[in-house]
Amino acid sequence: MTDRGTFPAHGTPAAELEAQLGDMRAGDLDWRGGKAFSLVYNSGDERHEALLETVGHSYQHDNALNPFAYPSLLQIEIELIAMAAGLLGAPPDAGALTAGGTQSIFCAVQVARDHARAERGIAEPKLVTPRTAHPAFAKAAHYLDIEHVLVPVGADGRVDLAALDGLVDDRTGLVVASAPNYPFGVIDDVASVAALASDRGALCHVDGCLGGWLLPWWAELGEPVPPWDLRVPGVTSLSADIHKYGYSFKGASVVLYADRALLRHQHFWYDEWPGGTYASSGPAGTRPAPPIAAAWFAVRHLGADGYLEKARQVRDATRAFQAAVEAVPGLRITHEPDLSLFEFTDDRGRIDAIAAGMHDRGWHLDRQQGGLHLMLSPHHATVVDEFAADLARTAADAEPVEGGDATGPDAGYGGIAGRRS
Ligand SMILES: *Cc1c(COP(=O)(O)O)cnc(C)c1O
Repeated sequence: MTDRGTFPAHGTPAAELEAQLGDMRAGDLDWRGGKAFSLVYNSGDERHEALLETVGHSYQHDNALNPFAYPSLLQIEIELIAMAAGLLGAPPDAGALTAGGTQSIFCAVQVARDHARAERGIAEPKLVTPRTAHPAFAKAAHYLDIEHVLVPVGADGRVDLAALDGLVDDRTGLVVASAPNYPFGVIDDVASVAALASDRGALCHVDGCLGGWLLPWWAELGEPVPPWDLRVPGVTSLSADIHKYGYSFKGASVVLYADRALLRHQHFWYDEWPGGTYASSGPAGTRPAPPIAAAWFAVRHLGADGYLEKARQVRDATRAFQAAVEAVPGLRITHEPDLSLFEFTDDRGRIDAIAAGMHDRGWHLDRQQGGLHLMLSPHHATVVDEFAADLARTAADAEPVEGGDATGPDAGYGGIAGRRS
């Protein structure tokens, strides 16, 4: 008999598989409980979730690869891109939907590479990013075989402009600024970065994957928000994830360009294939329809007033969590955040013990190189008192650890549930 490894010889009854999945999921991240601070952006609104599930379900089996087979998806996509463009300062047709922030960033880097080659005659353009920029840029540089130059950041967590000035040269194809960056929640000086890039003829991408769907409302709440989007002269592309603060489920992001001519570098068209002409607007082939339809539904259903209200909840939760951290003697926010996320550390050497103690109390705080990381969603407002009490108790119980810190092989995303001791 052919050896097929673990491939099932016979079908398994659905009830058995469902039960098995239920058991397997017992250890999964419990984001609904409000004790997780990354990966899922909890809108705090189960009715909203249910509506999106219904929309997603109705599109479950459709394929957005060929929008002409699905006029509804074509219309949804065009409208969603135009709405995002209106929010973030792009022409209404100069963008594309992707499955996530990493893909949006990949597209922007590829466009910049091909723009440098086609328009500027630079065979091997370079990508220049702050050290704090998301690893998606390093990944894109790796896959696209582009030299990646890292720029240090200053004490405030923003890219060091003097260092940037020295590192952008006539081979630079793309310069990146984050709005905000993930580790510290601070926004780079986008206007200065974009001006510097534009002076040298380079493109400038703003990574608004995290902030793109929150910053517009943050500003409307009266919070200080420096200019950061495609309205800033010199900014040529922007990524913004709808599956984060756009409050839709996973698989929806948008990449926008200052000019539709740039987007054209992202389009792929091939007619050497016996199967016929093949065209796509980005790297994906078959594309799931549910995230696209649900993202459109989320934006239309919430609208500016809905997003503003959720932003108010996020802002208030952020202030409350900052206060909870600052109320504990020794704990310190490492960089004054511009948005809804921050890193904190302990000046008394207990951060590792605090990480472990909070984990034992059910809190999933991400470990970073310089401390613990919190990112707030609307739902967190309901758990802030419990958090404050647990943090104070944990810190009081924590013994300083020799050389203790939150860093190590299990730091970051992968260290969410990790314990070092
Ligand atoms: C989440 C994030 C990304 C990557 O997005 P994915 O959807 O995880 O692929 C990029 N940049 C920032 C700042 C992010 O927060």
